[in-house]
Amino acid sequence: MITASPTPRLSPPTAGWRELWRDAITDAGELLAAVGLAHRPDLLPPGDEGFPLRVPRGFVARMRQGDAADPLLLQVLPRAQEAATADGFSVDAVGDMASRAGHGVLHKYDGRVLLIASGSCAVNCRYCFRRHFPYGEEIAAAAQWREALAHLHADHSIREVILSGGDPLSLATHKLQELTRGLADLPHVIRLRIHTRLPIVLPERVDDAFIDWLSALPVQKVVVLHANHANEFDAAVDAACARLRAAGATLLNQSVLLRGVNDDVDALTALCERSFAAGVLPYYLHQLDKVQGAAHFEIDDDRALELLEGLRGRLPGYLVPRLVRELPGDPSKRPIADFAR
Ligand SMILES: *Cc1c(COP(=O)(O)O)cnc(C)c1O
Ligand code: SF4
Repeated sequence: MITASPTPRLSPPTAGWRELWRDAITDAGELLAAVGLAHRPDLLPPGDEGFPLRVPRGFVARMRQGDAADPLLLQVLPRAQEAATADGFSVDAVGDMASRAGHGVLHKYDGRVLLIASGSCAVNCRYCFRRHFPYGEEIAAAAQWREALAHLHADHSIREVILSGGDPLSLATHKLQELTRGLADLPHVIRLRIHTRLPIVLPERVDDAFIDWLSALPVQKVVVLHANHANEFDAAVDAACARLRAAGATLLNQSVLLRGVNDDVDALTALCERSFAAGVLPYYLHQLDKVQGAAHFEIDDDRALELLEGLRGRLPGYLVPRLVRELPGDPSKRPIADFAR
């Protein structure tokens, strides 16, 4: 029987990513209530957070109900431990606050130029160096971007432009379009890389306009995502990853090793397996930047190497991330195994 039903919608009408962004949870009490927890005594007093709580509701929905040790919750909940100071932890752990906060163009490594395209993020991760950055919403303002383009024109050793932040996907797609318009005149730049956590924490960001922009870029595309735990992936994240791949992007994931979140072999194995199920290859496993307020997340290098050894025993080689740390003045990320220890 042929019925005259209307064409079915592929997806239900949903709020745009900007509305979802604005609708993020910013209050600790509301966050705890949303995951079925009572108030806990170990929170930073409101007003003392400095770096405010911010987490999209879709990410909160992936937290386990009633679990005070949930690995997603611990990444975003401002706890009193952040107020502690610790030796070796400073406000400028990677030594480039001046350049990051200044013109937003970082050319530290051969062949790659990193552009701080935006200072905003949809989520505030408690371990992030960004907690101490006073930079504004849109670092790569037009004048600065012209300066960056001049730099790219003059230096033919630059093969790759990296959009980073903050989160570059916090920019409207038309802004991204403006940023990348000049790339077509730079034949030596053959790759565009995007470092972003948005497809994980707010997968709705990967919308039609964004995919149109990405597909049309005249260069090879790499998207480096940031997920620290398998539970950060769900059907919406899978769909966003599938769209990114269909647009021609190679997908990689970087994670930060975090005490209480992913510092065991089972959790890391699950993360690598789960990201590959979404078509994302593990790239880096970072030792955290030693920023003030993050010391309670730290894992020492011996334990980190043990965890890596455990991963090697359980996963195919291509699913084992590179364990690295970033140190001021280094010409690349530094593999932990090479440390003179
Ligand atoms: C991390 C980083 C890069 C990229 O390094 P890869 O090892 O290629 O991922 C480039 N520039 C800067 C300033 C960086 O911090
Ligand atoms: S830069 Fe990355 S780690 Fe830092 S707050 Fe933004 S999303 Fe989180």
